[in-house]
Amino acid sequence: MIPPGSTVGLMGGGQLGRMFAIAARRMGYFVHTLEPTPLCPAGQVSDVEINADYDDPAGLARLVSGVRVVTFEFENIPHAALSTLAEQTLVRPGPHVLLTCQNRQREKQFLRQHGFPTAPFAVVRSAGELGAALKRIGLPAVLKTADFGYDGKGQIKLAPGTDPDPDALWKRFASPVGVVEGWIDFAAELSVVCARSASGEIAAFPVSENIHAHHILDVSIVPARLGPEVQAAARDIARAIAEALDVIGLLAVEMFLGRDGSLLVNELAPRPHNSGHYTFDACVTSQFEQQLRAVCDLPLGETRLLSPVVMVNLLGDLWAAGEPDWRVVLDEPSAKLHLYGKSVAKPGRKMGHVCVLDPDPAQALEKALMIKARLAKPRG
Ligand code: AMP
Repeated sequence: MIPPGSTVGLMGGGQLGRMFAIAARRMGYFVHTLEPTPLCPAGQVSDVEINADYDDPAGLARLVSGVRVVTFEFENIPHAALSTLAEQTLVRPGPHVLLTCQNRQREKQFLRQHGFPTAPFAVVRSAGELGAALKRIGLPAVLKTADFGYDGKGQIKLAPGTDPDPDALWKRFASPVGVVEGWIDFAAELSVVCARSASGEIAAFPVSENIHAHHILDVSIVPARLGPEVQAAARDIARAIAEALDVIGLLAVEMFLGRDGSLLVNELAPRPHNSGHYTFDACVTSQFEQQLRAVCDLPLGETRLLSPVVMVNLLGDLWAAGEPDWRVVLDEPSAKLHLYGKSVAKPGRKMGHVCVLDPDPAQALEKALMIKARLAKPRG
């Protein structure tokens, strides 16, 4: 085990890293963070912030020289950089996990090969393959880029009752590889964050029920308003995927609940997840502390929920007319305000979140939605 007092390395300096560093430092660890942008959210609370590109050999050498283990907080790190680190120190989760999860094609094929349920999908590399896939899968469907690196090029949704021209669509898509997915008329979206330690111990957090707006997580509700069997099945799926992928660290599994009661895996993330932020305020152990415990091979902490909780994200849109009026949050004594230390607010950028705890789940939701509505209202 890598005991408290050791130094851990972190690739990536966003809010997930920031909360990881807070959890690690609370337990007496030192944190060295590598991130290209100076004064990043994680760097602000780390012991050492190394500003270098993720694949810069000098930066990687500096990171490796001071740490016992390296973990990461997002998926767009070059796989080669993580492999370089893995030649010199422990990297958890390992580079093979990043390789699978940072590419939609590999991720979906991994899930299929291991028998995990997904929406119907096909990997396409040409207009011809796209046409055949759309015929097989039918509409509505969505065409997604395989690589997460193609940020902004986005997804193309194909409505039912239309007759999309595969040639024109493929031209517009402009990526070398795509994944066509059947569009699921889901009853709910949910996720499970699960931890697996170096010794193979596994622990899943309670299921979070998630509501998205414009493809970005908006609200997480815990306990999820779903039956106990579905929740148990979702946690089983998350644990089984963590095992099959040989994750050491965290794995977040996003799922759809179909109207027929079946669960479909949508996406994997081998790191802390936005839908697990509630654990920081409402569980015995947070997902960030659990990540630390898993990668340092400490015994995992208890995942028990201490109180019903609702999390709402604070996006940069709220800053359109200047700094939001934080009294709206602070006047509610059961609300916990989290801000990520980002100096520039942009629409869609995750700037912080609020968790509202209440013994009555309906009250937690009502208060959280009220806070969200009040923050969004222009100040008069
Ligand atoms: P993704 O970019 O795959 O994480 O998708 C973001 C969000 O878009 C999901 O959380 C869903 O709300 C929606 N979405 C993506 N793919 C599908 C699908 N195949 N069927 C229904 N909704 C989807």
